[in-house]
Amino acid sequence: MWFPRFPAPRLPSLPSLCAVCHGWGRQRVCTACLQRHAPPTVRCGRCALEVPPGVRTCGNCLVTPPPFDRALAAVGYVHPWSDLVLQLKFSAALDLSHSLADLLADAALARAQPLPELLLPMPLSLPRLRQRGFNQAWELCRHLGPALSVPVAPDLLQRVRDTPHQLAFPVEGRAANVAKAFAPDPSRTGRLAGRHVAVVDDVMTTGATGAEAARALRQAGARRIEVWAVARTPRQGDNPAPCSTSSSSIPKSRPTPAT
Ligand SMILES: [Zn+2]
Ligand SMILES: [Zn+2]
Repeated sequence: MWFPRFPAPRLPSLPSLCAVCHGWGRQRVCTACLQRHAPPTVRCGRCALEVPPGVRTCGNCLVTPPPFDRALAAVGYVHPWSDLVLQLKFSAALDLSHSLADLLADAALARAQPLPELLLPMPLSLPRLRQRGFNQAWELCRHLGPALSVPVAPDLLQRVRDTPHQLAFPVEGRAANVAKAFAPDPSRTGRLAGRHVAVVDDVMTTGATGAEAARALRQAGARRIEVWAVARTPRQGDNPAPCSTSSSSIPKSRPTPAT
């Protein structure tokens, strides 16, 4: 399925309870919560980890550049965004996908850089898709594509190997777990040749999954590859934003997405 390049229709928004503060507003995350919990943050252009103002590329990426050209994250994987991502993913709160996609769209537009020519949702394996019933990355792209007027190709990048959940592996083992897990649809690789594409996911943790997807896309001839995620897990040792409100309805036993 391909979205044509035309602006998304602006429909009148109806009153809705904010998913964070539970106040009435016009969006699932109210403006006050966006201002409070999604302040402008400087991130490394290659891995999307937070960096000090004035820094464009972190030291790690200077020494060992990732296989993708750029990474983008809208917010840190911290309260309240971690709660909302978990609700979307494990409680099928699909109504949150619009607000989360809007966050990512705003971050993409704020960079003042060329947008990709194609958005590719990070694919799930067939067993996991059957189990969950939806792909959260596609749910994000359904809104993100029209918001940015960028076409979405949901099945072009495919997961050809089912892998155990990344949580089952220590950080250093996650790259091996997803090795050769992705491949483009062999009948449509021509659509990648020379193109600028972005793989879209809900969370970026180590970057191992995005890196493996990028390798497959590069092999298929993609010219410029970005990895986009709504939320980026902070580097170990970084202090996440303080949790000043309590809005989570997610049981603490829920797994944390890790890719
Ligand atoms: Zn709110
Ligand atoms: Zn970096």
